[in-house]
Amino acid sequence: MAPHATPLAASTKAKDYVIATMGSHSALQILKGARDEGMRNLVICKKGSERPYKAYDVADEYLFVDDWKQWDAKIESELIKRNAIIIPHGSFVSYLGHKRVQEMKPMYYGTKEILEWESDRTMEREWLLKAKLLLPRVFKKPEDIDGPVIVKFHGAGGGFGYFVATSPKQFYEVKNRKYPDDNDFVIQEYIVGSPVYVHYFYSPITGELEIMGMDKRYESNADSIGRIRAEDQLAANIFTSYTIVGNFPIVVRESLLPEMFEMGDRVVAESRKLKAGKGLFGPFCLEMIITRKLQMFVFEISARIVAGTNPFIEGSPYTALKYDVPMSTGRRIAREIKQAIEMGRLSEILG
Ligand code: AMP
Repeated sequence: MAPHATPLAASTKAKDYVIATMGSHSALQILKGARDEGMRNLVICKKGSERPYKAYDVADEYLFVDDWKQWDAKIESELIKRNAIIIPHGSFVSYLGHKRVQEMKPMYYGTKEILEWESDRTMEREWLLKAKLLLPRVFKKPEDIDGPVIVKFHGAGGGFGYFVATSPKQFYEVKNRKYPDDNDFVIQEYIVGSPVYVHYFYSPITGELEIMGMDKRYESNADSIGRIRAEDQLAANIFTSYTIVGNFPIVVRESLLPEMFEMGDRVVAESRKLKAGKGLFGPFCLEMIITRKLQMFVFEISARIVAGTNPFIEGSPYTALKYDVPMSTGRRIAREIKQAIEMGRLSEILG
């Protein structure tokens, strides 16, 4: 494609735009989704990590960086030249940081300001409480621990670096041994129940909230501890960790769906009252534990596509009900962008 001298953000032809994302996380479905909707796409890869995109032949064009630190004005001007719209995902936000994302010049799908609300645990909690969601208790200091808690260090990527404790003594044992110098953490009540990650999509173009699918994570070593006897676990002195390895699809009992839709509605409605640009739209995820009494405790929100949507490249049981084509979240994003372009409403979904 010939690079454009000037950006064509005002064009109402989808072929004048390119869907662009960083090669990691959920890029395969974002790129395939763009093609499925008849749009061109581009992937920005760290040198040496392009193999999956080439092997599955999902990308029309590649840009390369040696390192994500090298994300600079040059890369951005390449994107601007191509009239690219960046689709953020978990790795994008975590490699670049929300401040760097805020300063970015190319077109960006979503609300940049919302990333600060999801990455700051205090702000995130304020938002979710206002949306009247049930949240795990938070302990102000380790001395207050009076039952099972999960300790989360700030910026712990993919669950790595979390630990479980049941008393102040046990907290300090693990903390002092493994993380003596890291004092940026939160102590949350450990909720016993089934983790479910609900994938939503809210469209300001159609005004509709959709549930696209659900997953649970496959975590090391939390998902393998149950494979050995309790005595052996104790003898091996294993500490539970939650490093994410992959995702399983889930379908929940149907009677939980009405409340799940309402929870999503409230989170979107409250986001509009935060000082956060256009508020929350597009893909997002409520991460919850459902107890035996079917209470849904939300422990986190992700305000962008989550990797748990990856099992649904061919659509989920939920999207099969609504769409007559296989609808991944990646494809849903491309469809939203295409419709917004053709309706002359693109600026409404750019951050
Ligand atoms: P996260 O990285 O926040 O998605 O969480 C990683 C893992 O910790 C997931 O398996 C969650 O189910 C688990 N987890 C997080 N917070 C809690 C909590 N408050 N109670 C129980 N499990 C939790």
